[in-house]
Amino acid sequence: MSTTTTTNTTTSTIKSISQLSNPTILPIEGYTKPIAFTTNILIVGGSYSGLSCLKSLKNHFKHRCSLPQYSKVLLSPDDDEIGQTQTNYPPKRVSITLIEPKSGLLNVIGIPQSIVDPKFAESQYLNYDNLKGLKFDKIISQDLQIINQFHSRLNKRNSNSIASNSTASDDIEYDETYSIEDDIDGVGNLQFGFEINFIHGKVTYLDDNKAQYSLTTTDSNSSDLPEKAMIDFDYVILATGKDRSWPTTPLAYIPSYFINEMIQSYTQIENHNIISIIGAGAVGIELASDIKRKFPLKTVNLIHPHENFPPEPLSLEFKQKVKETLIKSKVNLILNTRIKEESSNGDLITSENKIIHSNLNYWCNSHKSNIEILSTPLLKQFKTAQNNLLINDYLQLSNTITNHTIENFFVIGDLIEKPIIKSAGWAAYTGRQIANNLVSYLLDSKFIEPFPDVSLMPRGMVILGGDGNLVSELSGVVELNNASYVEEYKDYCFGKIKATLDV
Ligand SMILES: Cc1cc2nc3c(=O)[nH]c(=O)nc-3n(C[C@H](O)[C@H](O)[C@H](O)COP(=O)(O)OP(=O)(O)OC[C@H]3O[C@@H](n4cnc5c(N)ncnc54)[C@H](O)[C@@H]3O)c2cc1C
Repeated sequence: MSTTTTTNTTTSTIKSISQLSNPTILPIEGYTKPIAFTTNILIVGGSYSGLSCLKSLKNHFKHRCSLPQYSKVLLSPDDDEIGQTQTNYPPKRVSITLIEPKSGLLNVIGIPQSIVDPKFAESQYLNYDNLKGLKFDKIISQDLQIINQFHSRLNKRNSNSIASNSTASDDIEYDETYSIEDDIDGVGNLQFGFEINFIHGKVTYLDDNKAQYSLTTTDSNSSDLPEKAMIDFDYVILATGKDRSWPTTPLAYIPSYFINEMIQSYTQIENHNIISIIGAGAVGIELASDIKRKFPLKTVNLIHPHENFPPEPLSLEFKQKVKETLIKSKVNLILNTRIKEESSNGDLITSENKIIHSNLNYWCNSHKSNIEILSTPLLKQFKTAQNNLLINDYLQLSNTITNHTIENFFVIGDLIEKPIIKSAGWAAYTGRQIANNLVSYLLDSKFIEPFPDVSLMPRGMVILGGDGNLVSELSGVVELNNASYVEEYKDYCFGKIKATLDV
């Protein structure tokens, strides 16, 4: 693999560990305003794929640190530091930064149920402060509650490990009292040769060596333009997924805000009698099913332009079974019908100018890839007709027609242009794959895990159909209420996801 790639617009360098930029060491107390800084690995988006990548990076570094040939390079001082105070230098560090507008992992799979059950919604948000075995070392957030949570965890860490009379904010970087075995709950990332920053905000511009960002604000009254700053990086991992309309994609900046959003959506449904869902993809089907189950006396329409659904390349038997469960549960299926527009009173006008009476509508017929933050040259070269991004088998931005690869730019999760049914499972898989390759490149100068050949893999899907029945297809076998899926869906797969991500 070459070490330098020239594109039409930029030159990107893929670096080994000794070539990484000098990262900015943020102060332990964090910042409440955006500041410019340098990090080595930037992860944009902290849901299934981004978090899977972050946790896997940690696991890899931790494992490599336990091996003598790598612990030296990860933990020993730089050459020019040798000869200085041998006992008190900071370990070498790889700076990893996660930027995400939410303060935790929201289980998107549980959204249709959360929309009709705010109490249930409480179980679907895992604040980053409560992740198992993964802690952030530094934080930038406008939200004092988030900073305070971070500090209460930090105080615990300090009281465990730093001399009680220590006042200098940088002391923790020089602390060597942790042992690897001390890392019971993820404290002491520096012991494994890295540190993790969390930016509670979003990227507003991205190219192959820098990102502009602003911080999350929950003050909806503020008319001020958000302040912005730049992050320089060596590697970037784009994990920003796809957005749908509210409430299917809630803002959910913090858990309490998310619960308020779900109370709002519940009240909206409660106050209307005819609810229509436009689009019978997996999301529309599950939303119709969950609304009808919670409000059996209301009219719930599910409107779709074709006879069969969902649209994924699955068997007709599977699609028929999904349909049967919905009909049985008295969801009103309106098929072969395309909606042109919504009137001000909620009624829907079809492409044949017929009127479907409705009071409240959920448009589940489209989603938006969160890639508009990419620079124009990157979008021009790598955006596909499906609004995904072209990548090679190592998930680097890559266009085979123009022969351009941006080697330090990885894409994971829902955004990749691959013939798969996009899912939380694939998102977690790609996050783990990239962490494996990146650590391997940094330490051994090679990528080791290409994306698998999916052409021979059987496709599968599990859908919550009418009356809470689970319809599944895997390896061509269609089932109703497979016992293990029923178990997993008791918490809408959140337990399984936490176990998969190991958080
Ligand atoms: C209602 C619903 C039900 C579903 N049910 C299932 C199911 O049963 N099983 C299944 O496997 N899959 C299901 N899916 C699909 C699954 O949720 C997705 O495949 C998965 O969420 C993709 O993960 P991701 O990490 O790529 O992106 P996402 O989960 O979409 O996460 C992207 C993250 O990036 C953040 N982000 C966006 N823009 C920026 C920015 N500019 N800067 C920083 N961060 C940003 C977002 O806040 C978000 O946290 C469902 C999806 C929906 C919507």
